[in-house]
Amino acid sequence: MNKNRLSALPQIEVLVQNNIIEKYIQPLSRPLVTETARSVINKLRISILNDGIHVPPLDEIVNLLEHELSILEKNRLQRVINGTGVIVHTNMGRSPILHDVWREVESINCGYSSLELNLDTGKRGKRKGLIPKLLSTLLKCEDALVVNNNAAAVLLILETFARNKEVIVSRGEQVQIGGGFRIPEILEQSGARLVEVGTTNITKAEDYVRALSEDTAIILSVHRSNFAIRGFTSSPTLAELSDIKPEGVVLCVDQGSGVMDEDLPGETSVRTHLSDGADLVCFSGDKVFGGPQAGIIAGKREFIEKLEHHPLMRVFRPGKTVYSLLESILVKKMNGEQTAVTEKLGRTVEYMREIGETIIAGINPEDISIVESTYTTGGGTAPDESFPALSIRLNLKEQPHCILKRLRDAHPPIIGTISNDMVHLNLATINDTDTGHVRAELRKILEK
Ligand SMILES: *Cc1c(COP(=O)(O)O)cnc(C)c1O
Repeated sequence: MNKNRLSALPQIEVLVQNNIIEKYIQPLSRPLVTETARSVINKLRISILNDGIHVPPLDEIVNLLEHELSILEKNRLQRVINGTGVIVHTNMGRSPILHDVWREVESINCGYSSLELNLDTGKRGKRKGLIPKLLSTLLKCEDALVVNNNAAAVLLILETFARNKEVIVSRGEQVQIGGGFRIPEILEQSGARLVEVGTTNITKAEDYVRALSEDTAIILSVHRSNFAIRGFTSSPTLAELSDIKPEGVVLCVDQGSGVMDEDLPGETSVRTHLSDGADLVCFSGDKVFGGPQAGIIAGKREFIEKLEHHPLMRVFRPGKTVYSLLESILVKKMNGEQTAVTEKLGRTVEYMREIGETIIAGINPEDISIVESTYTTGGGTAPDESFPALSIRLNLKEQPHCILKRLRDAHPPIIGTISNDMVHLNLATINDTDTGHVRAELRKILEK
């Protein structure tokens, strides 16, 4: 009878104590390992009762369970090595944070902090520390504000100034950025009415003038973060928009990337938008700006104050981790220090060659070699630009997608790309501290 066979199944506790399975308790927690063991045994029980299979030997059951646990472990957030050559990669946490910055804010985060405490009066203070002062000094504007991300920044601006009113946006800027952030939809969400002007390729200042009405609350200019329009195109400058803008209308730029200086082709800096007459400019904290996930809004004080007093601000406010990281990064930036992004942007091809040669030293150049390639800034910046880089190219018999998978199975995983049917690891984004690990994994692949 099938039922009698069930008694041969191992007990959950016995499975969890197995040396192979036990190793997963630390990364996954004992309750999750136990739960997974229970579900594996349950599935077996059903197969035994329904399909009459025999109870597999213990090591087979352990293998089954380990397979499930290893899938769960892969789902845990973990460090990866970015070999894609995309510096700000949304799938890989966008901008890294420099170790120096992280260490500096550790004690603020691991202890109590003055997040909302005025140390002068001893009373409740404002949750923003020095950030508005630092940002307004850096950006030459009156005031600034931080929320959880740039999507929240855009929504807060629309909710505050444009609910039941009109927002003018060019047809060339009705964009979708990444997963699910669509300008027309976020406008609808805020209760603002979208007034489209111009065409996909050409929008003129007169188009905006014609669209103005008593109900106009905002003229919104949105950076085309992830695509470029080339050929017969034109749109008014921000200075022109500032000229035609009537009193009481807010001229707002969703700048996106947080580029501060004019050193990236295809990008206009936050500071330039502000000096050209934008009332508010918003951008992400974790793109080229080089900080943690945040949305930063900079501009005129009268508008920033209105934003601060909107009830949604309570929903969108970040916590101490974001404030402390931003504060530290801003001070360092203003003292001329690097961020993780500027460090990578400043990387020379010679430096990439050094890293590459360390990785492939002694390996047959017919199998693995260094080739010319390009890197991109990514994360909604300079969508049409790429810059010279070097890549490690694997010229092996094994299928490229199988090699990519093996590289992803490494600890920490290594993320490469396929081009011309060969796996490439771009040296613009691989750190010199990871050369040993990458080398070891490549050797393993070669040995196979
Ligand atoms: C990236 C981006 C956003 C969304 O910012 P998040 O910080 O991801 O919320 C919005 N607008 C523009 C122009 C962007 O580039």
